[in-house]
Amino acid sequence: MPGPDPSLERRRVASPPPTDPQTRAEALSVAARALRAAEHVCVLSGAGVSAESGIPTFRDALTGHWATFSPQELATREAFAANPGRVWQWYAARRSMVRAAQPNAAHQALVTLASRVAHCTLVTQNVDDLHERAGSRDLISLHGSLMRARCSAGCPGTMVPTEAQAAEPPPCPSCGALMRPDVVWFGESMPMVEFEAARRAAVACDVFLSIGTSNLVEPAASLPWISATHGATVIVVNPSMEGQRRGPSILPIEGPAGVMLPRLIAEAFAGRRARRVEASASASATGPMAIEEGLAPATEQGLPPD
Ligand SMILES: [Zn+2]
Repeated sequence: MPGPDPSLERRRVASPPPTDPQTRAEALSVAARALRAAEHVCVLSGAGVSAESGIPTFRDALTGHWATFSPQELATREAFAANPGRVWQWYAARRSMVRAAQPNAAHQALVTLASRVAHCTLVTQNVDDLHERAGSRDLISLHGSLMRARCSAGCPGTMVPTEAQAAEPPPCPSCGALMRPDVVWFGESMPMVEFEAARRAAVACDVFLSIGTSNLVEPAASLPWISATHGATVIVVNPSMEGQRRGPSILPIEGPAGVMLPRLIAEAFAGRRARRVEASASASATGPMAIEEGLAPATEQGLPPD
């Protein structure tokens, strides 16, 4: 008989929330207490976080010239085989939208969070680079990266395409096959190593923070509920709670991530200094002030009522 899994032994330092907080303010305060007590927080970010930086979702980006194509004509292996130039140009267009966008207050708040807890695992469904540009490190990307290309023949060749390479897929530097966007297409499975790392973090964490995702698309959608069944407190921050599961260990915080997340982090960690010096140094792109701003006392101004 194998012994107990040590990652499951040291668990649940966060006290379970009282059942069913009645208002968002109450949910925020219970969520803040759980975060403050947590040793390991697992974060899952989705399209809503990028949308608040002005990056349209895949379907919302199908405008103008691109409105004449279906997702299957732009984001499948078959589409790339049939028309590599068209698929490459679609991703080049999306890449330049991302280059023009900036990380928002939610991205910054997650950098602050990582510096305040002993262990933070950041998992994203987004393919832009805004978490990295905000200063987050050791990101688990479930859907790959828009900013990178890899060999379509499957050799280990990768590259970072430039603006000048927007018209046609360049040849693989190793084998000469066409390079393809390093993203997960429709009909392709999520990278196994990344998903397994995310699943392990969901099992082991004390608090699971789901941000800007409707939690409807499997298998990533199952992560918060895997976490809940292993006893973690699950905090769901999203403009809409439609379709989200409910339960005694699930705290819904309805609202935009860029507003609710800084407020949550401020309430949880006001007065607590960064635990990890390198984490605060890593935010130097925006300077240490960004972290301090992230910890400014929360105010009710400008927030929708509960
Ligand atoms: Zn190759």
